[in-house]
Amino acid sequence: MKQLVILSGKGGTGKTSVAAAFAHLAAAGDPPVRAVLADADVDAANLELVLAPRPLETHEFIGGAVAVIDPDKCQGCGICAQVCRFDAISPCHPVTPSPRYRVTVSPCHHVDPIACDGCAACVYQCPEDAIHMTPQLAGHWYRSDSRYGPLFHAALRPAQDNSGKLVTLVKQQARLLALDGGYDAVIVDGPPGIGCPVISAASGADLALIVAEPTAAGIHDMERVLATVAHFRVPALACINKADIYPAGAAQIEAYCEANGVVVAGRIPFDPTVTEAMVRGEPVTAFGPHAPASQALSEIWQRVATRLLDRLER
Ligand code: SF4
Ligand code: SF4
Repeated sequence: MKQLVILSGKGGTGKTSVAAAFAHLAAAGDPPVRAVLADADVDAANLELVLAPRPLETHEFIGGAVAVIDPDKCQGCGICAQVCRFDAISPCHPVTPSPRYRVTVSPCHHVDPIACDGCAACVYQCPEDAIHMTPQLAGHWYRSDSRYGPLFHAALRPAQDNSGKLVTLVKQQARLLALDGGYDAVIVDGPPGIGCPVISAASGADLALIVAEPTAAGIHDMERVLATVAHFRVPALACINKADIYPAGAAQIEAYCEANGVVVAGRIPFDPTVTEAMVRGEPVTAFGPHAPASQALSEIWQRVATRLLDRLER
């Protein structure tokens, strides 16, 4: 069982369109690849919009803990507010005398759960033992059935982070099912950028496909994500989306890849069919198999799948 992770230096490069097309092409058997799908872009999970999954299981994701102050124990000394590096603790009432209203100033302090980072420094510093950490429901993860195979995906609640941990969880579940069910591969739609969730998505992968776009920023973003996967010794291929909108940029990407030993698996032309397919909630290769983008994606999938499954020499 092999793991393919699809990454991009930033959002909006067409990574999910590529992942959805691969899911369709793998299921369509060209080449035959039994794949489990994982949407690891948990901050903006949208693979499910294209794969129309039917949820089978829903699980809570406890992403961390936040500090809670017991108002009965708190003496209002303010030590916790001083040690908190995230400015998450403040007095229960602002100590601002109102000329018009009588304000009862409570000595207790309280924690803003959105600002709290869960470091627990305040817990250890409180002389009254008035603070404890409470686990937080940060989101949910799902096991679903999609028309192209099992899909694991997740959703974080608003203002929640810890997405690296959730990415790892989603990937682990996909991997376990793939191993149990004798699948050939796990196809992971990874998060954009180079942060913690990307490292979680790339770790343990057998191959990364970097989706780049030919803009000045796009080239720079691709260099950063290639450096990230190289650091974790994950072999990488690249593909260039909307390659014809700026041919000089596409040529620059190819030159960079060649100089750094990265194979460019193909160029995807700008094609309005991709948007039409997205609006219809279908992978472009299923919606318009003869569209230029679909043809390019089919060729890229052949190269990626071949490399992934070691059916040709590396
Ligand atoms: S350190 Fe403890 S007692 Fe002091 S303000 Fe904070 S919670 Fe209250
Ligand atoms: S746990 Fe850390 S971040 Fe949260 S309130 Fe306490 S000191 Fe601040």
